[in-house]
Amino acid sequence: MSHSRLYIPGPTEVDEEVLLAQAQSMVGHRSTEFTELFYGLIDRLKLILQTENHIYITASSGSGLQEAAVRNTVRPGRKVLNMVSGAFGDRWQKVSVANGCESVRVDLPWGQPVRPQDIDHHLSLGGYDAVTVVHNETSTGVMSDIRAIAKLLGKKYPDVLLMTDAVSSATGVSIPFDRWDLDLLLTSSQKAFALPPGLAFLAVSDRLLARAAEVAHRGWYFDILQLEQYLSSGRTTPATPAISLLYAADRQCRRILDEGLEARWARHQQCMEMTHAWAQHHGFGLFAEPGHASRTVTCLRNDPGIDVPALIAHARVHHMVLGNGYGKLKNRTFRIAHMGNLTPANMEELFAVLDDYLS
Ligand SMILES: *Cc1c(COP(=O)(O)O)cnc(C)c1O
Repeated sequence: MSHSRLYIPGPTEVDEEVLLAQAQSMVGHRSTEFTELFYGLIDRLKLILQTENHIYITASSGSGLQEAAVRNTVRPGRKVLNMVSGAFGDRWQKVSVANGCESVRVDLPWGQPVRPQDIDHHLSLGGYDAVTVVHNETSTGVMSDIRAIAKLLGKKYPDVLLMTDAVSSATGVSIPFDRWDLDLLLTSSQKAFALPPGLAFLAVSDRLLARAAEVAHRGWYFDILQLEQYLSSGRTTPATPAISLLYAADRQCRRILDEGLEARWARHQQCMEMTHAWAQHHGFGLFAEPGHASRTVTCLRNDPGIDVPALIAHARVHHMVLGNGYGKLKNRTFRIAHMGNLTPANMEELFAVLDDYLS
């Protein structure tokens, strides 16, 4: 099957073996076969997301879990602090408001990470139940230091839950959920996980489950306590799961563990370094503040003033797809993802094609 290879930050390339896993016959979702697959997958996800806490799988994209996060943690009369330094932080704030949460929004310049000191002052004013932070801002190519933020909360604000969006970073870089004492981490299938879109994965702490019990109206589809009730009693999920996608997820999680987490993170790092070197060679600066560049997607500043759509069109002719800048960053930046299944050899192939255009 020939196709255009995706160097965009989602959806990403899916291995043929994983694509084909979806073609298996249906089974009942209460059957023994399915139950075994589902609980095996949960165990593998615990290894991959580095947690012995709770893992849930939903038939939704990652945005659904942004909704789950605020619905299950923010009590009436209390507030959520939404940190915004790009398009996905902005989305989480809008999701918070749309779900009736009292939101305080902190806008940081795009290109900057979210730092503990940006959060500290606001939380010191009191009244907060949760803070939302995007670990890897896919729109700007910036990664924030979640560990430092978790440390601040653990030390000074133990009742404020830290909610982390790791949609475009989980499996591309180490995020030790238990060791960093995180409360909630959400991610989706179609980015660094290298699966088709349509599944989302959630890790939560006991602290978060205890909080959810104090929130009366958690909704139904994304009620974490109901998901927990079904999972812990051996009944998988309350609603019909996305069985075909779960076949694929099971296959891909085995592949991820076969590659080895350390090796996978190192591969992402290597692809990032190659992308940075290529950018520098052609005079493209990084949009990210120095020291905070994402390991999974690079956002290049169009300093030389090239015709970005023409570059993208040239790549397209060679069956490669890269991303323009997101929203207001269009043509001022463009993005090269180096996540999921992409290898150093794949990056070299892309750079050869782009070099051809730029010369
Ligand atoms: C893609 C993305 C989302 C949205 O996820 P969907 O799975 O498309 O709903 C949220 N946050 C980040 C950081 C993303 O990259």
